[in-house]
This record gives sequence, C-alpha cells and structure tokens, in this order.
Amino acid sequence: MSTVELDEPRADEVLVRILAVGICHTDINALSGRLPVTMPIILGHEGSGVVERVGANVTGVRPGDRIVITPDFCGTCRQCREGHTAYCEKSGVLVFGGTRLDGSTKASHNGEPVRAAFFGQSSFAEYALVTERNVIKVGDDAPLHHLCALTCGANAGAGAMLNTLKPDPDHAVAVFGVGTVGLAALAAARMRGARTIIAVDLHESRLELAREFGATHVVRSGHGVDVQAELRRIAPVGVDRALDSTGVKDVMLDAIYSLGYHGVFCYVSGTGGVPLDLDLNRILIKGVSIRGVMGGDGTGLVFLRELIRFYEEGRLPIERLVRKYPFDDINQALADMASGVTIKPVLVFDGAELE
Ligand SMILES: [Zn+2]
Ligand SMILES: [Zn+2]
Repeated sequence: MSTVELDEPRADEVLVRILAVGICHTDINALSGRLPVTMPIILGHEGSGVVERVGANVTGVRPGDRIVITPDFCGTCRQCREGHTAYCEKSGVLVFGGTRLDGSTKASHNGEPVRAAFFGQSSFAEYALVTERNVIKVGDDAPLHHLCALTCGANAGAGAMLNTLKPDPDHAVAVFGVGTVGLAALAAARMRGARTIIAVDLHESRLELAREFGATHVVRSGHGVDVQAELRRIAPVGVDRALDSTGVKDVMLDAIYSLGYHGVFCYVSGTGGVPLDLDLNRILIKGVSIRGVMGGDGTGLVFLRELIRFYEEGRLPIERLVRKYPFDDINQALADMASGVTIKPVLVFDGAELE
C-alpha cells in the first residue's frame, strides 16, 4: 500500500473511510488494458464504509453514517434527468475517466496527479472522496461486505432481468455465464416466476450454484457441446429471453441464435472490440431484439435500494458468492477472481468487524 494526498471534500463531496469494497471484472479489465484508463489511477468501484467528513452543501448524510457507494453520474444531463443515470452522458469522465467533471483528479502523489474518481469513487483505498449523489445510507449494523457486492455486477444482472427482459411466467429464460451477473439474473428470473430458467456455463461447480439461485435446467458448455442443440432440447421453439454476461463472441451468438419468436437478447458487457458476424436473416424472421444494458437499466439509486431489500428478504443471496480478503491481500483476491476460484472477492479493512 502506498500513500497519496487526497483533496479536502468540496461543497458537494463526502469523505468516506472505506470498510469493504468488492472486486469486479471491470477492475481486472482496467488493469489488463482491455478497458482503457489513464494511469496512475486508483481502481475500485464497489465501495462501502462510514462517512468521515462532508462538504458545506451536503445534507443527505452526516459523519458516522454507514453508506454504500454507487457509480457516479452528473445528475443534470438529459439521461440523468430522465432517470437513466447509468447512461449519464458524462460517464466517460465521471466513471471511466477517473476525474471530476472539471478534470481534477482528487488526489496526488509527490505533486503529480493521481486519478481518484474511478466510477466516482476509486475505493481500493482507505479513504475515498465521493459525491452526495452517489451514496446510499444504510443501517448502522448493515453487512457492508455483502451490500457492496450488490452495486455493480449483481445490479447489472438483476436489473437486466427485472427492468429490461421482464420474463413472463410462461417464458423460457437462458442465462449465459454464471458469475455474479449471471447468478443475480437467475435469482431475478425466479422472482418474475419464469417457468423455465436455464443456466449455461463451462464449470460444473458454477452450475450447481446456479440451481440454488433459481435455474431449473443447466447446460454445461465447452468440450464440443452444441449449446444451441442442448437448449432446443429444453425449449424446442426457442427461449424467450437470453442474457449474456460473458462478453465472449461465440457465447453471444449461441445466446442470440437460441431465441424463439419475438425473443429478446440482452448483454451487459461488450466483446472487447471483437465484431459479431451475425446472420441478420435469423434475427429478422423471428422478430428478435438485441439490447445492450448498462448498469441494470435502473432509475437512479432506486433500484439498488430494491436489491438491498431483496438481499434482506433472502431472495438475492449474494453472501453465497462473497469471500472476504484482508485489504493487504488484494493481489491474491484479484488472482482468485481472474482464475475463477472466487466469484466475488470483497476486500475488508482492519477494524471493519464485518461478519
Ligand atoms: Zn463493476
Ligand atoms: Zn448525467
């Protein structure tokens, strides 16, 4: 761990002592260069903790409040005003750029700027400077190491299912890729009452977990398995809703071609620039829709509050995925996530006392 200088909170900002922060594949993509970011930058975007100090204009939270941090948004562009904060027109700066809107970085090291606003938070650090608009206040005894894990991948998967795909009870739903996104999507499909819920993944252990989250059928992919044929055995006229969480071109094509009439395909991450050679005739004759979904298509912070309630009610058992690591073991946690040993690593700081 190294030490940087963090700015004092501006009028609309909140200084947070981070207690628990989840690791997401987006952090790994930023480290590997698949997601371009400008270095030096502090990563981390599923933070939670306790408010330490607030700026003069902050009224929603006070020092001592426990909060969960969401990705930042500007609050004033057309997308934000209409409730589509995940599509904020300024997210290139506020989310991926790692700076404030005015380009300032929030932190420095030996006088050199360090970007400390990744997703508006840069929460792989003891302290983060966030804004009042991207925090949610939670209870004093809230299990932050579970709640922080809801803010990104689970939000994306459950949101794509509940806000966009909205399967009916007589629908067949297929979820491709059983990580945090896929498992949350399965739980959400179960909440919608979908009759047939199919999980597709390479790993047997993931498929076992998928059943716990609501999958009624599982398909193990890889080893020459014809996934489309397997899905037709389960849903002979095609599935009605398909969600991809892998960003892998051939998996996405399997998902799209497994759809039946008026089927809808959603995806939550791109292919890293790999083009999809799609047979548009197959899309046309069945009236299929293809839809990208950012941030679960939720409205502001409202949907995350719903997810917290689903977790509290046991309908979204995120704790089944979370494994805690001391913050100093961040490199081990990143490696375990990249290798698939751990689905959702959460880093906790000394003294966080989260059980
Ligand atoms: Zn993420
Ligand atoms: Zn905006």
